[in-house]
Amino acid sequence: MRQETLAALKDKGFRLTKIRKFIVEIFYSSEAVPISAPELRTRLLAQNVKANKTTVYRELDFLSDQGIIVEINAGDGKKRYELQRHGHHHHILCLRCSAVECVTIENCALEDQLNSVDLKNFKVTGHALNFFGLCEGCRPYTECR
Ligand SMILES: [Zn+2]
Ligand SMILES: [Zn+2]
Ligand SMILES: [Zn+2]
Repeated sequence: MRQETLAALKDKGFRLTKIRKFIVEIFYSSEAVPISAPELRTRLLAQNVKANKTTVYRELDFLSDQGIIVEINAGDGKKRYELQRHGHHHHILCLRCSAVECVTIENCALEDQLNSVDLKNFKVTGHALNFFGLCEGCRPYTECR
């Protein structure tokens, strides 16, 4: 899949810079965990790829424009991104460490009812639902108190 994504960009005439390839790779290897711009920079640095903030934001905008990634809102106001190819799902946020993960609810009832709900005369095209709580790593800390 990641190879097809890169090939499709190349076919459209876009340059496959080293940083662009690394970023696409990072998104593919982080399937169910959305990534923020600062996290992306940290991951790039861990692989010895130096990227300044402007470059990272420019690449995120580019990949969003190309429909490869989407911005998600997990409810804490931070921008995070994930691969566009995810089907309908929700997100869960840790209130202590801000970790976010994708959660899928089989046959989400809300999504099934979108056509039949009448909400303020809107044509409803989708919904978002965020869960929050404490991740596995954070739970012990709060239980100790
Ligand atoms: Zn946590
Ligand atoms: Zn997600
Ligand atoms: Zn849903």
